[in-house]
Amino acid sequence: MKTIGVLTSGGDAPGMNAAIRAVVRTGIYNEIKIMGIKQGYNGLINGDIEEMELSSVADIIHRGGTVLRSARCEEFKTEEGRNKALTVLKVFGIEGLVVIGGDGSFMGAKKLSEAGIPTIGIPGTIDNDLGYTDYTIGFDTAVNTVLDAISKIRDTSTSHGRANIIEVMGRDCGDIALYAGLAGGAESVIVPEEDFDVDEVCKRLIQGKNRGKLHSIIMLAEGVGNAYELGKTIQEKTGIETRCTVLGHIQRGGSPSAFDRLLASRMGARAVELLLEGKSGRVIGAKKNELFDMDIDEALDVKKEFDKKAYELTKILSI
Ligand code: ADP
Repeated sequence: MKTIGVLTSGGDAPGMNAAIRAVVRTGIYNEIKIMGIKQGYNGLINGDIEEMELSSVADIIHRGGTVLRSARCEEFKTEEGRNKALTVLKVFGIEGLVVIGGDGSFMGAKKLSEAGIPTIGIPGTIDNDLGYTDYTIGFDTAVNTVLDAISKIRDTSTSHGRANIIEVMGRDCGDIALYAGLAGGAESVIVPEEDFDVDEVCKRLIQGKNRGKLHSIIMLAEGVGNAYELGKTIQEKTGIETRCTVLGHIQRGGSPSAFDRLLASRMGARAVELLLEGKSGRVIGAKKNELFDMDIDEALDVKKEFDKKAYELTKILSI
């Protein structure tokens, strides 16, 4: 294999740049030409592709976002679109591909590997919603961003004796809410994986207030519902002034944490090694801090396990 392409696809995540850098530098170290494909599968269809040099990835390890940009591409879901991509790959002499993205991007990677293009997937999404791996690139940074927000909201919350609902991202996965809530000392954590009772949340708020607590933080995962509606209900039921903060896209930005940079660097290098070993249709994951690779289909079939123990701990520690 002489030429490898790399792209970032779907929702961006802090640490994607560190992964791109690792792919480029490991490739060049092994005398492989690396082609950067812009805007996910769109660039593959439109031929928006450039050779990457050592200097193309200088000064990016600490930057959020992705220098290759990311996008969603409906055309790539069609056979016609993918056939265009296969022609472009041939024209540019790209013999192997590294796809950095979430489960949707992995579906695209799978289709390319089935069409004969050796393809390796790297999990890049803040949601941590891929069951086969303990961590995805970007999740740790997002949790730290949410923690920072909790600290700030806590300050003003205390001054006014308010309850605060903080709505965080994660789609159907409650990991950001759970881990940021646990680390940030939230009074209640509401996630899609566990049923919740609004009266129980209210009871905790009232008990806390009666004990002299000056504020309460309620972490709400976006997959459960809307913070403003919940806030209104809680305020009506408890009489406690309740404010809502929807953190939104700030969770997707920012300089990646050390954890995400290390994970991304190791995964990026491993992806190139796997292609050079002749592997295809595989994704890289991390379990107990060890990297491994597995078949894309099998990986996508692994059901995400919710950390029930951590969830129970949030309840114990917020009595
Ligand atoms: P993520 O990778 O973050 O989960 P998406 O689900 O939006 O993000 O997927 C990113 C892109 O992957 C899509 O815009 C599309 O180009 C490609 N993709 C998703 N699903 C498929 C599929 N079933 N077949 C081919 N390509 C797909």
